[in-house]
Amino acid sequence: MITIEKILKEAVGRLKTKVSTPLLDAQVILCHILKVDRLYLIVNKDRVLTHKQILEYKGLIQKRACGVPVQYITGIQEFMGLEFYLEEGVLIPRPDTEILIEKILDSIDENDKYNIIDIGTGSGAISVSLAKYVQNSYIYSIDISQKALDIARINAVKNNVLPKINFLKGSLFEPLENINLLERIDILVSNPPYIPTEDIDTLQIEVSKFEPRLALDGGEDGLDFYRVIIDKAPVYLKNNGLIALEVGHDQAQRVVKLMEEKKKYVDIEITKDLAGIERVVSARIKL
Ligand code: GLN
Repeated sequence: MITIEKILKEAVGRLKTKVSTPLLDAQVILCHILKVDRLYLIVNKDRVLTHKQILEYKGLIQKRACGVPVQYITGIQEFMGLEFYLEEGVLIPRPDTEILIEKILDSIDENDKYNIIDIGTGSGAISVSLAKYVQNSYIYSIDISQKALDIARINAVKNNVLPKINFLKGSLFEPLENINLLERIDILVSNPPYIPTEDIDTLQIEVSKFEPRLALDGGEDGLDFYRVIIDKAPVYLKNNGLIALEVGHDQAQRVVKLMEEKKKYVDIEITKDLAGIERVVSARIKL
């Protein structure tokens, strides 16, 4: 008879040298199979599992032991209090990125209408959250990956904001050249790939081996996408429009410098994340 308590113990034994949070991962994966929450596992630790549940669980624990992120196993990640569906092929939304959303929410006036561009939409975490929390908004969500756009669309449907988002396939600003933008853009937001190419293999295996390189690789110094975004944003944004970019842990000052050199950015600000790392660079456009 294999109970919840027993199988969790076994799974922790299997995971403990491989992952940093073995018990949590073992619990979350079991919750996914049994469709229950973590409290249930504690209260019902003597529940006996079926043969099928045991086999399925062992398979998923094996995947986790090989480094597959929990979120790709369960297909779920929470972000900004919303639930996002995920698959391999799109970057897992990070809590750090909530700082980017909060910076934008702090900078807007609820009564105004906002046209927003999100470059490198990925799972849709940023676009869907802004569509949800900025009452009067319309979002152009751009990604070069069709898989990312498909997943982002699923997340827009899941969170009831599909009519507020226009999904566009292409690189950076390229898809905007083919559509008729009736008004200039109020807000540009992006969490572009920013890891320097040669650093990717030094990241945790969960990231380097399982998350999409396309969403991570920012070129030789990690700043390739910022150069293009900062150069081109003034073509699309309104005077006084807001730009907010997530940056890597040591990139904020260099991104500020790129904005200063362009001479079309004012009120340049750096916002730190909860770990005290400079995480967001924002500014207003001065045309
Ligand atoms: N934040 C990701 C990491 O942890 C990188 C995402 C990105 O390149 N935008 O590595």
